[in-house]
Amino acid sequence: MNISVVIPLYNEEESLVELHDWIRRVMEDNGFSYEVIFVSDGSTDRSWDVIEQLARQNKEVRGIKLRRNYGKSPALYCGFEAARGDVVITMDADLQDSPDEIPQLYDMIVKQGYDLVSGWKMNRSKGDPLSKTLPTKLFNATARRVSGIHNLHDFNCGLKAYRLEVVKHIEVYGEMHRYIPYLAKNAGFTKIGELRVHHQARKHGKSKYMGWNRFANGYLDLVSLWFLSSFGLKPMHVFGFVGTLMFLVGAVAAIVVGVNKLCYLLNGLPHPLVTSSPYFHISLTMMVLGTQLFVSGFLGELLIRNSQLRNNYQIEKEL
Ligand code: UDP
Ligand code: MG
Repeated sequence: MNISVVIPLYNEEESLVELHDWIRRVMEDNGFSYEVIFVSDGSTDRSWDVIEQLARQNKEVRGIKLRRNYGKSPALYCGFEAARGDVVITMDADLQDSPDEIPQLYDMIVKQGYDLVSGWKMNRSKGDPLSKTLPTKLFNATARRVSGIHNLHDFNCGLKAYRLEVVKHIEVYGEMHRYIPYLAKNAGFTKIGELRVHHQARKHGKSKYMGWNRFANGYLDLVSLWFLSSFGLKPMHVFGFVGTLMFLVGAVAAIVVGVNKLCYLLNGLPHPLVTSSPYFHISLTMMVLGTQLFVSGFLGELLIRNSQLRNNYQIEKEL
């Protein structure tokens, strides 16, 4: 099979039939063999009924119904598990992404050898408020820096294409759908490209992600991802290093306090209490924090020793 289209959706009943018709038209015009996997993420409207009906009428349509609303990342994860096409294309269900881009995305993966191609909504639809476009710009700039994927302008675009291998080797969880290119890069799929795509205003319903706070947690996710990819398998290298450094600073401060006191004593001068010296407090804090960090490193190492990820490497080829 050439293409699996994976569509996560939460309460998008009005769009599904039109979206499916459009995808089918594009697929038939280009002679692709394909499947469309609708993942209903705990929709409470009639979305699932529509999907059932579409599946009855079209053998290419498959449906996955999640029991409750888990979020876009878990919905994508389930779709990825089910996908069978050589190329997997994800798109939002709200008709903002155009299925007309599919043939070009397919070509970039199959003919140009990309592992992942991300859409770039160049002309964001005029309907989007500044409260949505500005955080998006900041978000993308940060994501580019942290991930080191400098050629992507739009990490969060729902329209993306993947080589099948890629979706089977990355695990999208939590709200990590915003960072799929970064996940792919960390998994060793480094040929990541971009395609400018058209972007329409939402036709029906309203956005499930609104306002400024939509990226607040996204930043924390980015920090976690950065940490995991840099030190995930060797936590002692960071905790142990910083911990030791702090402990040493504390020890030096302790020596300063001690030597100071000794000088007073030896010269027979009236000596102040060690607790009145700022160095005493610095020493105490640094040594306690340093030890704690060091212990955190040990705990991290213990966790990894017992984790299945410990020796989970991806072998690309074997002879
Ligand atoms: N979505 C989902 N689960 C959720 C929230 C959203 O599956 O909990 C789907 C939603 O139905 C749509 C896609 O994710 O197909 C993108 O959502 P939306 O269009 O609301 O985001 P925006 O385009 O405003 O960033
Ligand atoms: Mg949308």
